[in-house]
Amino acid sequence: MPTMAVVSAMGGMTDLLIKVVDAALDDFDLAATYLDDAVERQLATLQELAPPDVVAPIAARIRDDAADVLSVVRSLRMIKTVPAVTMEVVTGFGEIWSAQTLLAYLRTTGVACDWVDARQVLVVKSESEGLGEKGSAATGGVRPLWEETTRRMSGWWDAASERNGFGEIDYAASSPILVVTGFVAVTEQGAPTTLKRSGSDFSATIFAKLMAASRVTMWKNTDGVYTADPRRVPEAFPIASLKYDEAMELAYFGAQVLHPSAMLPCIDASIPVYVRNIFN
Ligand code: ASP
Ligand code: MG
Repeated sequence: MPTMAVVSAMGGMTDLLIKVVDAALDDFDLAATYLDDAVERQLATLQELAPPDVVAPIAARIRDDAADVLSVVRSLRMIKTVPAVTMEVVTGFGEIWSAQTLLAYLRTTGVACDWVDARQVLVVKSESEGLGEKGSAATGGVRPLWEETTRRMSGWWDAASERNGFGEIDYAASSPILVVTGFVAVTEQGAPTTLKRSGSDFSATIFAKLMAASRVTMWKNTDGVYTADPRRVPEAFPIASLKYDEAMELAYFGAQVLHPSAMLPCIDASIPVYVRNIFN
């Protein structure tokens, strides 16, 4: 079995991309400046992680994406409103870029690896439009279309195995790493969309179910799910273990550590979810 690494955007990146869209409503040059900041930050990180021959094609793709983003937001000043799909398509680039950035690093290690653009695989139906609020209980009723997604995932795997020789790997000794874009998905009509703010957790559990994974580890910047918000309640402590529905209830009442829908695919498939602190 391969290991999947489902990635979110770099810190602050999604917020910056939202600013690109919002600024474009009345100041295109300001939007372009925010976008330049975003691209420069991403490229600086990329260059730190891999040598020029690995970096070059990825950097070129990131610049092309940025040019696309600019042309998408150019019309906003005229229409004076942000169509929901515009926000969805632009904000998703944070994950598209971070997945390729991690892939660049993995290529330097010699491990067998590839990346999955979830906009080609994960097909969803959403009940509402727009991104939602970070840490909110509302997930916009996004539902994966399992049959179609499963079909596309196995198509992706066949092509990737062939391309990368995944079939010849001695799985007892090592396994390939697939970097997957969190957060982003596609509609049945083929429009780029997202799983709403903090949706990468949900992406991780969706892909875990798809791949029949043995476990999911959520790498966070806290030691787990706390009894209360530790910034407000000094006595709060991490809960050693809790049931899926308890985790969902906490997420529903505003615990920001896990996305409220993220438990659903794991309940269906009885996959355990671990919360780990990346800094520990
Ligand atoms: N990058 C997205 C966000 O900031 C998704 C995520 O982080 O899970 O909401
Ligand atoms: Mg995030």
